[in-house]
Amino acid sequence: MFQIHIPAVKAFSVKEALKLIEENGKVLNGGTDILVIAKEIGISAEKLVDISGIEELKQIEVSAKKIVIGGAVTIDEAKNNPIIRSEFPALVFAAEQFASPQIRNRATWAGNIANASPAGDGMTALYAYDAVIQLRSKNGRREIPLTEFVKGVRKTELCEGEIITGIILPRGHGGEHFGSFIKVGQRKTLAISKVMVAVSALIKAGKIKKIGIALGAVAPVILRLTEVEQFLTGKKIDRDEAVRAGELARQAVKAIDDIRSTADYRKKVAGVIVERAILGLKSIE
Ligand SMILES: Cc1cc2nc3c(=O)[nH]c(=O)nc-3n(C[C@H](O)[C@H](O)[C@H](O)COP(=O)(O)OP(=O)(O)OC[C@H]3O[C@@H](n4cnc5c(N)ncnc54)[C@H](O)[C@@H]3O)c2cc1C
Repeated sequence: MFQIHIPAVKAFSVKEALKLIEENGKVLNGGTDILVIAKEIGISAEKLVDISGIEELKQIEVSAKKIVIGGAVTIDEAKNNPIIRSEFPALVFAAEQFASPQIRNRATWAGNIANASPAGDGMTALYAYDAVIQLRSKNGRREIPLTEFVKGVRKTELCEGEIITGIILPRGHGGEHFGSFIKVGQRKTLAISKVMVAVSALIKAGKIKKIGIALGAVAPVILRLTEVEQFLTGKKIDRDEAVRAGELARQAVKAIDDIRSTADYRKKVAGVIVERAILGLKSIE
């Protein structure tokens, strides 16, 4: 296998990583974001603390009420996990459209969150599942909902010397798990999203028991479309309801102009993809 040698310091436990970061280091995980910008932000490879091999961060823990995706779990590792496939299908659909096989094999879910791009595909799917972030520093541990963790474009609540050790996802019971993920970019693959939507749904007797709709890349932070979720809860999915959901989404979105697209385009497309995502909800057998 082709390998690049990066002269970063490798940590073998979270405790060791926290100590090394305190000594003037920065976290290196899959490296698919930080190595691209390291020169630009003035970080030399020797200052990076590689956490990607820490065994305790490579786990996906499953208990009755939640699963925890470890802070060094890659996009592909979670995509291939049987519980994630059966109960969190929107994560799998997002992972399938994430970058390329090579990047998915290195990039982590925690890195996608720490990077805090509103065009983060993984993070948008995590928003749809009410993710909570587990953090650890030398001062202790804390948990914070993802919606509160992200403060703006590349701005988060992550403090100096802190590591994302896990991403908690509550398990929904009493229904079947459906999901969808639609990404609109310049190309079909290896594209940064202009607009994207992730939908999680728990469906019982043909009706929506619980739904999460997250819209990415339209605003400085990912949006949860709570009005649309309330409108759909308790309903059976049909074309009329999906069209109405799309209209509500279009009305709710305050989109931005940037180098990738215009606010007007994003608003229109947001409505279309919300409608299609509702109609396209599916489970993974
Ligand atoms: C060619 C290419 C295509 C891409 N395509 C996509 C795409 O389609 N969709 C998409 O969403 N992204 C894409 N990306 C961006 C990137 O792959 C993701 O954001 C990825 O999830 C980052 O994870 P990482 O493990 O590589 O993070 P790294 O690059 O290792 O780190 C990124 C940042 O997060 C911090 N960090 C990482 N892990 C932790 C942790 N556990 N605790 C605290 N801080 C941490 C680092 O210090 C750094 O500041 C692409 C990148 C490239 C190069």
